[in-house]
Amino acid sequence: MSDHPALRYISKGAWGLVEPLVSPRAKDLLAKLVDFLENDVIPAEALFHAQIPTHPPEARWASVPTVLETLKDRAKELGLWNLWLSGGDFQGMAGGQGGGLTNLEYALMAEIMGHSAILAPQATNCSAPDTGNMEVLARFGTQAQKEKYLVPLLKGEIRSSFSMTEFGVASSDATNLRNTTAVLDAAKKTVSLTGHKWWITGAGDPRNKVHIVLAVTDPENPSPHRRHSLVLVDPKQKGVRVVRPLTVFGYDDAPEGHCEMRYDNVQVDVDSGVVGGKAGLGRGFEIIQARLGPGRLHHCMRSIGIATRALDMLLQRVSDPARKTFGKHLREHGTVLADIAHSRAEIDQARLLVLAAARRVDVAGAKGALQDIGIAKFTVPTMALRVVDRAMQVYGAEGVSSDTHLPYFYASLRTLRYADGPDEVHIQQIGKQELKRVEELRKRTDQIKAKSEKLLREGGKERAKL
Ligand SMILES: Cc1cc2nc3c(=O)[nH]c(=O)nc-3n(C[C@H](O)[C@H](O)[C@H](O)COP(=O)(O)OP(=O)(O)OC[C@H]3O[C@@H](n4cnc5c(N)ncnc54)[C@H](O)[C@@H]3O)c2cc1C
Repeated sequence: MSDHPALRYISKGAWGLVEPLVSPRAKDLLAKLVDFLENDVIPAEALFHAQIPTHPPEARWASVPTVLETLKDRAKELGLWNLWLSGGDFQGMAGGQGGGLTNLEYALMAEIMGHSAILAPQATNCSAPDTGNMEVLARFGTQAQKEKYLVPLLKGEIRSSFSMTEFGVASSDATNLRNTTAVLDAAKKTVSLTGHKWWITGAGDPRNKVHIVLAVTDPENPSPHRRHSLVLVDPKQKGVRVVRPLTVFGYDDAPEGHCEMRYDNVQVDVDSGVVGGKAGLGRGFEIIQARLGPGRLHHCMRSIGIATRALDMLLQRVSDPARKTFGKHLREHGTVLADIAHSRAEIDQARLLVLAAARRVDVAGAKGALQDIGIAKFTVPTMALRVVDRAMQVYGAEGVSSDTHLPYFYASLRTLRYADGPDEVHIQQIGKQELKRVEELRKRTDQIKAKSEKLLREGGKERAKL
């Protein structure tokens, strides 16, 4: 067993299982990432928050904390850049930096980043929604779209939004999405985009240079999965308007934000502004499916890091010698010990699930790993929420105040039970998938029964009562 610094965060058991699959380069990057987290990122968190103006309210969306650029420069220097890029295809566009890791290797790194979920992913250009958007552009964009949007995204020069959820529409069933239309003018080779979206992450960010908007382009198509396309929109374009930034339990996540958006008669050229150009018309559903797989897993990886940071906070709080209740230090109470043990066990279970899913993506592709990703998607954030809740509890009232990071951890994890599809949708899919095993189970049970009857007959015995 090595003495890799990641062992300060990842259990020996999990590390022992995956270590043979982690390349020397990935181990080196992982060690650098741990050092970057501890010595650069976490110490910069307070400055990051302090650099976001509070007054006037609109100032929150006008600038980006300068400490973030310092961290990005440092991450680039260390080679901790675009680590999420699992394939080699886009290395040239990324200036040859970062990437090239397996999903399993990245899973270990994303967990480490989760310890500073607000800063580490941004500092290393590994944050949502940009990673998913880069994947869309890289896999489905035209060459011109890649040059215009993908290259600056990979360099961390601009940011982006993915605009799908519709105001007033049950958007977890994507076939419902119909109030955003992109009407085709075949003669002019343009579409006119009109729609009302909300919860669009990153739309408040002054660096945002592109929204990828899901819109109906072929409403009469008999297949509900061929009616939509993805349209690229410049947020400064005529007709694009942020209605308001939304808040999650009071947090606005400035300067990125989650915004309600209006697109009013926005004119977009088909060749340059529909993902994939003319050939991309009607492929919206196919592309969003491809986008959501690995991204969902990235959220799970980071959630484990958030949970572990909350457990680390819990351990320190209950070990505070100044805090005694009913004659005992907090750590001496049985319920507190049980909370610690359950948290440790649940984090370690979840990690194995996520690592297995990441390995499955490496071996079978995102499509082949859907079952594993789906299970992680609806179990890991809920697990992390339980751990954060236990940490809040031992902090007393302070645990629900913004004097600690815990309420923010809770708010961000809670949203993961909706974002990229609510838990129930994944639960339903996994349940249905499990039921597909019934026929094979019946066959196997019948075979076993026949064999057991035969053994009883040959042994001259009746079936005994159990
Ligand atoms: C912080 C945050 C950031 C977000 N960022 C983005 C973004 O960048 N871009 C974007 O497009 N969207 C974003 N979203 C929106 C998110 O993707 C949607 O909220 C999600 O897809 C659910 O859609 P809905 O809110 O319309 O819920 P509905 O579709 O109205 O669903 C409501 C509830 O119905 C229940 N339900 C649904 N289906 C089933 C079922 N099969 N069985 C049982 N119950 C069911 C679930 O409990 C579900 O939560 C974000 C959301 C949040 C909170």
